[in-house]
Amino acid sequence: MTTITLVQGDITRQSVDAIVNAANSSLLGGGGVDGAIHRRGGPEILADCRRLRASHYGRGLATGRAVATTAGDLDARWVIHTVGPVYSATEDRSELLASCYRESLRVADELGARTVAFPAVSAGIYGWPMDDAARIAVETVRAVPTSAQEVRFVLFDERAHEAFARQVG
Ligand code: ADP
Repeated sequence: MTTITLVQGDITRQSVDAIVNAANSSLLGGGGVDGAIHRRGGPEILADCRRLRASHYGRGLATGRAVATTAGDLDARWVIHTVGPVYSATEDRSELLASCYRESLRVADELGARTVAFPAVSAGIYGWPMDDAARIAVETVRAVPTSAQEVRFVLFDERAHEAFARQVG
């Protein structure tokens, strides 16, 4: 039985087993939540990302996929990096966004993570409308079989928190 919880706040401050990063395919850092995770988690996370690039992910991580690294100085044990799709008004990329949540939970299960925190993937720099991003996130997490006990959505501002609260009901 997985419980979905909502928190308004900063994902880097969560005491959970794994936090999910809305990364970009380079895995080498960026703005938004990605920048915050690397700033607060310290250089070990980036070092792990570089090792991944040098080994299995020479061309970067594909959109909709997920991969784990250490969480460095964060309270969490792991950071699971996933690459959300850039929003498009003309092409339906919902399946790729759903895949981010599915793949991240698959990786979390492989790691044995019991508590997993997600940001609103794609709903920042990648431009996904918040209500739709929240719907896809909540519907997908509800539908995925996972051994995680808690999936926590950590929303940075009130608007995002309200959008997720409408979906969770
Ligand atoms: P993307 O490129 O996938 O859109 P962003 O990091 O730009 O990713 O934004 C994703 C969501 O994460 C946005 O709603 C943004 O406000 C939020 N966000 C930014 N920083 C944090 C943080 N420290 N904790 C939680 N959410 C954050």
